[in-house]
Amino acid sequence: MSLLDWNDAAVEEVITATQVNAAASTPVMPPVMVNVEEDDDEGGSGEIGGSGEIGLTGLESLEMGAARIQVDDKKIINCRADLNQLVPFKYKWAWDKYIAGCANHWMPNEINMAADIALWKSPNGLTEDERLIIERNLGFFSTADSLVANNLVLAVYRHITNPECRQYLLRQAFEEALHTHAYQHVIESLALDEAEIFNMYREVPAVSRKAVWALPYTQSLSDPNFHTGTVQADQRLLRDLIAFYVVFEGIFFYVGFTQILSMGRRNKMMGTSEQFQYILRDESMHMNFGIDVINQIKIENPKLWTPEFQAQMIKLIKEGVDLEYQYAVDTMPRGILGMNAEMFKDYLQYIANRRFSQIGLPKQYTGVTNPFPWMSEIMDLKKEKNFFETRVTEYQTGGALSWDEAE
Ligand code: FE
Repeated sequence: MSLLDWNDAAVEEVITATQVNAAASTPVMPPVMVNVEEDDDEGGSGEIGGSGEIGLTGLESLEMGAARIQVDDKKIINCRADLNQLVPFKYKWAWDKYIAGCANHWMPNEINMAADIALWKSPNGLTEDERLIIERNLGFFSTADSLVANNLVLAVYRHITNPECRQYLLRQAFEEALHTHAYQHVIESLALDEAEIFNMYREVPAVSRKAVWALPYTQSLSDPNFHTGTVQADQRLLRDLIAFYVVFEGIFFYVGFTQILSMGRRNKMMGTSEQFQYILRDESMHMNFGIDVINQIKIENPKLWTPEFQAQMIKLIKEGVDLEYQYAVDTMPRGILGMNAEMFKDYLQYIANRRFSQIGLPKQYTGVTNPFPWMSEIMDLKKEKNFFETRVTEYQTGGALSWDEAE
């Protein structure tokens, strides 16, 4: 049975309950109670998760004279407190990440691509293997961040019922747009065949495999009939968040990032590397936000984190490791830039062990070490000259800087 199939029966149950309510309601749906019948097997595990109610969306009609929001009214999923009032903050970590994301603002066209253009055009500037890595990664990433953005906007956002988390999701969505812009900017600068690169996820198996793996986990949440509010539906949301934040952004990006940044370390394709360095910093924050959301959902809904569910999530993440290793093999048929596919097996297992720990699962790979310690150095840079010493990466927008000076 595929991981995607395991709770479809339960989901059907939610859909049925929702549709019944929808049929009896006005066209503009006020939030409705879901009366889901108890599951037949697990001794009541089909009972309503948390409050027993579908969360608000923020689009409900105003209720004049309604009570003011108390912090304890707020919940990360299935919340019934007004979603249009940002404060009082409950999840400071979400607001802090929103502020940090804004302070890290950058634009792809600020980065000088002249040296990359010259190197790319020079017949002996790069080896065929190096060119393959650049093209394959632009092929994967140029559509991958659109997938992530669409997942946020069309699938995830509706189910996260907390304004400060939504504030970060909106920032993240914009950053995904910037990343797609960055890839487009590189593709245009190098005068690559843009149709070939952007269509690569429908032509080249190494690129398409990861997108094909991920798509069902966003299709699942974007189903208009899907609502959280039962243990199984909330587990489905949690699973899909893990698929995108932990596997897609937390594992599937790392072979490509490492390959491109490794070029930058060797003074090749410095502009492209710098673009990727900015993107990596953003992505690292996206993943950490997603992990905070996942852990907060677990804290508020401990019933979701059953041993069976944990085993399924371990399997899901291991699938991601295997697919990303395959991507390393496919994009790096020979050793290059001091790297080879086997080193990536270690690296991916090392990363996956961290991901397991971050969401409270046991590490699955023993005896693995990080063959690319310089990658964590790049991510950890704070307010210093960047790795390639071309500019200060931890810059803030003008407004943010003036606030700092005023303090
Ligand atoms: Fe992202």
